[in-house]
Amino acid sequence: MFAAAFDYAAPATLEEALALLKKRGDDAKIMAGGQSLIPLLKLRFAQPALVIDIGRLPSMAGIGRHNGHLSIGALARHVDVERNPDLPKLCPILVETVHWISDPLVRNRGTMAGSICHADPSGDWGSVMLALGASVVARSESGERVIPIEGFFQSPFTTALRPDEIVTEIRIPMPNGPASGAYNKLERKVGDFATVAVAVQVELSGSKIAKAGIGLTAVGATNIKAVAAEKALIGHEPTEEVIAEAARLAADAAEPKDDIRGSAAYKKDVVRVYVLRGLRTALGRAREVKA
Ligand SMILES: Cc1cc2nc3c(=O)[nH]c(=O)nc-3n(C[C@H](O)[C@H](O)[C@H](O)COP(=O)(O)OP(=O)(O)OC[C@H]3O[C@@H](n4cnc5c(N)ncnc54)[C@H](O)[C@@H]3O)c2cc1C
Repeated sequence: MFAAAFDYAAPATLEEALALLKKRGDDAKIMAGGQSLIPLLKLRFAQPALVIDIGRLPSMAGIGRHNGHLSIGALARHVDVERNPDLPKLCPILVETVHWISDPLVRNRGTMAGSICHADPSGDWGSVMLALGASVVARSESGERVIPIEGFFQSPFTTALRPDEIVTEIRIPMPNGPASGAYNKLERKVGDFATVAVAVQVELSGSKIAKAGIGLTAVGATNIKAVAAEKALIGHEPTEEVIAEAARLAADAAEPKDDIRGSAAYKKDVVRVYVLRGLRTALGRAREVKA
């Protein structure tokens, strides 16, 4: 199917884009890589009167450390994460996850921020950002807002962004101690969206877990932060019993549905097993950072 007719604008500056967005509000749609928006337009699930292409805006594609956090510019594409030489050390879960996202065609065009703004509960980055405790930086003509990822996903394909806001950056806090993560994804075939996936991030203080983040993909109306499971880990020695209890609590937090990919009960058990595996892997990696 062809998309319904729309006007197209490619502003040269962020300020110009923000002014257009303020003027056209709900009539307009931002486009970054177009990898989710264009399919929606072609299926006519979205019919904006104006598409504002921010793909060529300068200075929004950087990836680097600033003031205690890792900054991922809103126009950093999946491939930029894949190829960044510093990320394997700074935040290995990002590099592990990016290989699970579709294929090189999508990774060459799509952006991490676009994926988060799209808020597909089957999107991989949402869960990773929940595990990492990231924040989303949004700009409008009235200023800048830093939105914790925990409150960002509101319902399927709906976020806390206002219609006049553009995301400019994702901020990921840098750990104070040895830390690492893991992303495990079950998919029907290579490049597919997840049947179930789990992001796990841990930070150690001595032999105990100082911080823990667990994000669940494709098992609810949004990516889910498994808060009770995280709490069961924090401040504890990571014994097999503690890990098993966290995995059980994470499975409890999942709200999957029966579908052609599997029953809800099966998906909940995949969550449990992937939290177990993810925690063991992440803890092993974090201990290596310490050594
Ligand atoms: C065949 C295929 C397979 C895929 N497989 C996977 C997969 O396995 N895992 C996965 O996680 N994803 C997958 N995706 C989605 C892919 O990751 C997209 O790149 C991503 O979801 C959107 O990024 P984008 O830059 O293309 O955003 P766009 O398509 O340009 O925009 C998506 C949405 O976000 C909004 N938006 C984008 N950027 C901003 C911004 N800076 N500020 C405010 N709003 C913004 C747009 O208005 C739109 O609503 C797949 C896509 C395709 C086509």
